[in-house]
Amino acid sequence: MNYQSTRNRQICVSSSQAIAEGICSDGGLFVPESFPTVSLSWLAALEPLDYRSRAEKVLSLYLTDFTPEEIRECVAGAYAGGKFSGSTPAPVVTLQSGVSFLELWHGPTCAFKDMALQLLPHLLTHALQKIHCGKDALILVATSGDTGKAALEGFRDVPHTRILVFYPQNGVSTMQERQMLTQEGKNVSVAAVQGNFDDTQTGVKKLFADAELCRKIGEFGCMFSSANSINWGRLLPQIVYYFSAWCDLVSAGRIKPGECVNFCVPTGNFGNILAAYYAKKMGLPIKRLICASNANNVLTQFLETGVYDRNRRFFKTISPSMDILVSSNLERLLFDLTYGDGGRVSAWMKQLTETGCYQVDGDMLEKIRHIFSAGFCSDGETKEEIGRIWREEHYLCDPHTAVASRVCREYRSKTGDRTPTVIVSTASPYKFAPDVLSAIAPEESTGGVFEAARRLSVLTGTPVPKPIAGLENKPVRFSRVCTKEKMTAAVLDAARKG
Ligand SMILES: *Cc1c(COP(=O)(O)O)cnc(C)c1O
Repeated sequence: MNYQSTRNRQICVSSSQAIAEGICSDGGLFVPESFPTVSLSWLAALEPLDYRSRAEKVLSLYLTDFTPEEIRECVAGAYAGGKFSGSTPAPVVTLQSGVSFLELWHGPTCAFKDMALQLLPHLLTHALQKIHCGKDALILVATSGDTGKAALEGFRDVPHTRILVFYPQNGVSTMQERQMLTQEGKNVSVAAVQGNFDDTQTGVKKLFADAELCRKIGEFGCMFSSANSINWGRLLPQIVYYFSAWCDLVSAGRIKPGECVNFCVPTGNFGNILAAYYAKKMGLPIKRLICASNANNVLTQFLETGVYDRNRRFFKTISPSMDILVSSNLERLLFDLTYGDGGRVSAWMKQLTETGCYQVDGDMLEKIRHIFSAGFCSDGETKEEIGRIWREEHYLCDPHTAVASRVCREYRSKTGDRTPTVIVSTASPYKFAPDVLSAIAPEESTGGVFEAARRLSVLTGTPVPKPIAGLENKPVRFSRVCTKEKMTAAVLDAARKG
């Protein structure tokens, strides 16, 4: 199977190249030339398998230039060896009321990005060998919080890789900063940038494009690579857990083999929900995909009206990983729904860059509305939802998951759709302990983040996850702060480190 660009069908590369390059030279994103489809008997054979074997089966449909042994090695490297707590990396938990949650946060950083970022380094190192580049990958990341830590943890001590994460100096939460600054590993570096997330991201884009810098790191045996959510190697691992969740529901007797389910996904960059769309396209019985947003509801408007308009106020919310106005992966959906019309996709993306806005036509909108529903909720409603689920069901969820739960309930009461629905749970409640604590016990005044986590644990009788409890006493390893202009020096130091 080969991969093409969303902006130009002439570009055609292997999966190894798509993963190693991350983004196409024309600015487009890599997508499979055609999608594999599976039958109900294929699904029936998937059902009795464990998560790792299910992952191998799904991945092998896409990574046709990898041998089965290589795929097995990558999957084992990601999901075996105690990196995920519990018996399976992505358990489905069904509450008394019949609502199910797909918990994707049992990995080392307690957010769903681990599902992909534990696997990507293994895919990438194999991909680099296959394209015979002979260099180590120097991964640059600009993060607004969760991605940076998950990428550091995924790439730590992976041979032939080095990773450098930049974050905005005052733009991440205390917990997130602590997670990054205490990161272990010989090949990792972290630097704060004086500025906001946009400055940081723009700075990293400039580094990638700096030809002189590329030459210099080449002398240290390195080439740049990216762990961004637009890399195909990050999207592919996410398709797996939709298959796995459906299989688990069949195994548990909650749905019949072949029966459809809905997924409701808390959405930011449109990566997670796009993976669900691809699973549906492949033949997984999915009826509707419900896209849940916070006050930054640019996607709600788009999926309901066909108008994408980023010219709006930006809100900082208690579900910060969804505080996004430009959802990069939406480009892949547009490409698919236009049957691969790279010209039209390029025109929309150009309009988005120039005016901040574009509109798709009525045909496209109809197709979108046939599959997607959308909704959003405020911070107040999110907290209410966390409190309600705790009181009524004794289930503790994080703010992102609560947004999805709220939007899902509204969808069901508005439409009367009674299809079994899975809410995708993207972070441990302990990662956002102060907000979760105040949602279930408004009278509690919180000290710091660790005190809030302890109170939450006492009040709910649930344990603080080890990766979070362990942070408090871990030594801080990094203290570099640089201006936008001095990011180059940090890159050269990281390249030298190998
Ligand atoms: C990144 C993230 C999201 C958004 O996922 P996308 O793939 O960007 O739509 C939602 N919840 C949490 C906790 C996240 O870290």
